Amino acid sequence: MSTASIATEVSQEPETPGERPGFDEIHILWIAEGTSRDGDTVSMTAAGRSAVEDIVLGLMPGLPKVHLHDKVLSPSPGGEDHLGPFRAAARGELGPFVLVVEGSVPHQDIIEADGPNRWIDRLAPEAWAVVAVGTCATFDDGHTMTGNPTGSPTGSMALADRLGRDFTSRGALPVVNIPGCPVQPENVMETLTWLLHHAAGTAPPPPLDHMLRPQWLFGKTVHEGCDRAASPGHATFTKDHDSPKCQVKVGCWGPVVNCDVPKRGWTGGIGGCPHVGGICVGCTVPGFPDAFVPFMDEPTGGSPSSPLVKPYGAVIRRLRGITGLAAGQEPKRHHDKAEPTSGHAPHRRP
Ligand code: SF4
Ligand code: SF4
Repeated sequence: MSTASIATEVSQEPETPGERPGFDEIHILWIAEGTSRDGDTVSMTAAGRSAVEDIVLGLMPGLPKVHLHDKVLSPSPGGEDHLGPFRAAARGELGPFVLVVEGSVPHQDIIEADGPNRWIDRLAPEAWAVVAVGTCATFDDGHTMTGNPTGSPTGSMALADRLGRDFTSRGALPVVNIPGCPVQPENVMETLTWLLHHAAGTAPPPPLDHMLRPQWLFGKTVHEGCDRAASPGHATFTKDHDSPKCQVKVGCWGPVVNCDVPKRGWTGGIGGCPHVGGICVGCTVPGFPDAFVPFMDEPTGGSPSSPLVKPYGAVIRRLRGITGLAAGQEPKRHHDKAEPTSGHAPHRRP
């Protein structure tokens, strides 16, 4: 594919001074050549709403035409055909593009003199937006964790650390971090969709939190969305993995980890760590995994707080039992007499 054929057009000048023009077309350059294991690419393909195929095929109204350059998902035979857009982008000849980086960035060149770190250094300053996908790229996890069995001499770092925390893209955006190990499918596609609407000029920039994560995805804790969340209030905890009770004693960090997976589920809305018997191991926060190992141990602070809640839970369970009896009583208007009655009559109310 020649450089000329992949250059994109920016729509006409703004009608009023200061108005930002939207793009008619945009490229997405997806790099997973650092220390990635492609798990986020695989995960991303499971998104049902904001599906990648809908975006690439132009089936979502209001978005620019999207050219996806991904070694797995793009219809390219590979080699120079795949690399052409990346080379053009590094020369500043591609037109607007979103650079997506999956996997942490190696400190040193792992390929002679032209490793992924060098490519990122060349591409990021030209990118309209830069997105880090997965916890390796956002916070750097497994490759520098304590006791890394690979014994990697080079180590690696998060994308925002490589580019500098004050980095802003050509679209005046900081690095957008979408953590997860792997990333939740809809989380990454929804964020990309928001960015594409912003690129089209039809949406403001996505709101990010202090860790550069989309606020609407990472504003609540796992605990707040857990379907076992009534269990701690009743002081009922499991010490095994085959129970529907709260799993904090077997290593769940949900009360302090921000993640929408329990609310959102995984493929097709099904699953979501604690919903299906998995503890939350904090895969969306910077301390992962070191801060959470050994994974099956009770979190710091769990042992004093769960005994404290026991007396409270015992009282609450009894009170709710009484309330439940009242809620389960048949109203007086339910009867088998011939004359129908309604709850409008005050003497027939419970
Ligand atoms: S299983 Fe985890 S997230 Fe769910 S209620 Fe217990 S501590 Fe909270
Ligand atoms: S619930 Fe916990 S372990 Fe599961 S995806 Fe979210 S942060 Fe990761």
